[in-house]
Amino acid sequence: MSGKHVVVIGAGIVGACTAIYLQRDGYRVTLIDKGAPGEGASLGNAGCLNASSVVPVSMPGTLSQVPRWLFDPMGPLTIRWGYLPAIAPWLWRFVRAGTPERVAQIAAALRPMTGPTVGMHRELARAAGVEHMIHHVGHVHVYRSDEAFAKDGAAMALRQSQGTRIDELGADELRQLEPELDRGYVRARLITENGHCGDPLKLTAAYVDHARRQGATVRRARATGFRFEGSHATAVFTDQGDIAGDMFVVAGGAWSRELAAALGDDVPLDTERGYHVVIRDPEAGPRTPTSAFEGKFVATPMDMGLRAAGTVEFGGLEATPNWQRADNLVKQLQAMYPRLARNLPEERISRWMGFRPSMPDSLPVVGRASRIANAYYGFGHGHVGLISAPMTGRLLGDLIVGRKPTIDPSPYAVTRFA
Ligand SMILES: Cc1cc2nc3c(=O)[nH]c(=O)nc-3n(C[C@H](O)[C@H](O)[C@H](O)COP(=O)(O)OP(=O)(O)OC[C@H]3O[C@@H](n4cnc5c(N)ncnc54)[C@H](O)[C@@H]3O)c2cc1C
Repeated sequence: MSGKHVVVIGAGIVGACTAIYLQRDGYRVTLIDKGAPGEGASLGNAGCLNASSVVPVSMPGTLSQVPRWLFDPMGPLTIRWGYLPAIAPWLWRFVRAGTPERVAQIAAALRPMTGPTVGMHRELARAAGVEHMIHHVGHVHVYRSDEAFAKDGAAMALRQSQGTRIDELGADELRQLEPELDRGYVRARLITENGHCGDPLKLTAAYVDHARRQGATVRRARATGFRFEGSHATAVFTDQGDIAGDMFVVAGGAWSRELAAALGDDVPLDTERGYHVVIRDPEAGPRTPTSAFEGKFVATPMDMGLRAAGTVEFGGLEATPNWQRADNLVKQLQAMYPRLARNLPEERISRWMGFRPSMPDSLPVVGRASRIANAYYGFGHGHVGLISAPMTGRLLGDLIVGRKPTIDPSPYAVTRFA
């Protein structure tokens, strides 16, 4: 037991898991957040615990699609014109990450993060007393045409290259699996290794509560910078006063860039804004989380109702949401599940937009700061933060303790952008 004090900045799913793993190694933990725990990106995601999530957002051919993203504000992936100059350097790195060689490396680096997700979350959830929130019923990808099915082939082959088993289903088998799905879906792929969570906000809050019961201090405070002595940080400055510590972890999600800069690292972190809608008491919906290839979103059966979550909008952290994108998800759900009511009353619908913390190469930044000996990073998980949070926490624990790491940390090093 070290008894040393670690200050974790950010009480999203990544900060929460990190706090728990550090406590298991005997560290005293203070978890700080500028808002309520779990109310960043971790609040509204699709809840997928997909071990098979190894496909980066940038794939071969991405460059040719950029013009379409600029001219279709309702498309599954879009860029706000006003944000184009700010995101151009990020986009350039993003496009360069989409070569076949790089994509294969990224998939191989993601698998150790994502592969163990269901088992790790189940163990954490059991410890936190919420094991019932973790489900293991697989994930199904559905297609309205053979052409769409074929277009998704490269991404599926990448998953298979990392050991994922994929079962192809015809229309009849799909009907049996998902009886409420529109008959226009004719092909599917089922991935049984995947799981999901019934309420990502409650899961994160339960992990934070568990850390608190194990002795963590949880404080509402906004971190603004650090005090240093030589190459060590000695305190984090916050709007509630300075908090001294022996070690510091930046797990501030999409807001981590400035904190990393304060530690001397210039990281190309931006955000892919995503939307969700939840329909309460749905007349129909999926039994298994279902990815709609054409819409780039997932329909997940959740504790609070049917959630459709996904799509990507490059627009930064400040622009107001485009709620039409959320309304579009309602229409798509109605087309997927014909028994869903057409004129849904407002009180049955809730809408949300969140900020994925996104690196251009779809790999998170996990590891030590390049210049400060006692500061660490755990951010930039993009589309797979819920999935990868447990392994991120465990890896940070290994690195902070100085143990042989459970997985190779080198692909996630902050220095890869230097
Ligand atoms: C529509 C959508 C669907 C998604 N679906 C999935 C999915 O199915 N599966 C999956 O794995 N991932 C999914 N994701 C991604 C996932 O939600 C994120 O990767 C994950 O939540 C990131 O967790 P985090 O803890 O890094 O960030 P966050 O949850 O954003 O937490 C960061 C926390 O840091 C705090 N903070 C920031 N700056 C400061 C500061 N200066 N001082 C104090 N506190 C600070 C914030 O208030 C926040 O609470 C989805 C995302 C979206 C938007």
